[in-house]
Amino acid sequence: MTAAHTGPVPADATADAVPPHPADALIAQLDDLMDAIRVAEFPALVAEEVEDDRETFLAVRCPRCGDLVESEDLRAVTPAFLWIAADDIESDETHARGAVSFYNDQTPDLEETLYYRHREHAVRLPEGWREDWQ
Ligand SMILES: [Zn+2]
Repeated sequence: MTAAHTGPVPADATADAVPPHPADALIAQLDDLMDAIRVAEFPALVAEEVEDDRETFLAVRCPRCGDLVESEDLRAVTPAFLWIAADDIESDETHARGAVSFYNDQTPDLEETLYYRHREHAVRLPEGWREDWQ
């Protein structure tokens, strides 16, 4: 039983029968929202040849602000939620206060892109382009 539990526990309560809490809906909404962002068709960056100092090179232009995209201004936004198990749960001598310690040895999964950002606005990669994580 957690400290947050305030009501009586029915005799037949099992882990499968935990009553929902209204705040559970927020997590469900977050999951739905993230799924919607993943499939959203943000404007695609446009690959184009640019001439500079008589040299021609391939550049990428942002369809939203019209600027050529510098690599440091383009971000892959990853969800990187980590579910870290509690390492220990302890209370002090009076049991009035306690601490829950966590130890994180997980590396976030940075290779799942939720969306891309050029500066402050969402975009997607040029048509036919792919991510290449290293
Ligand atoms: Zn832009």
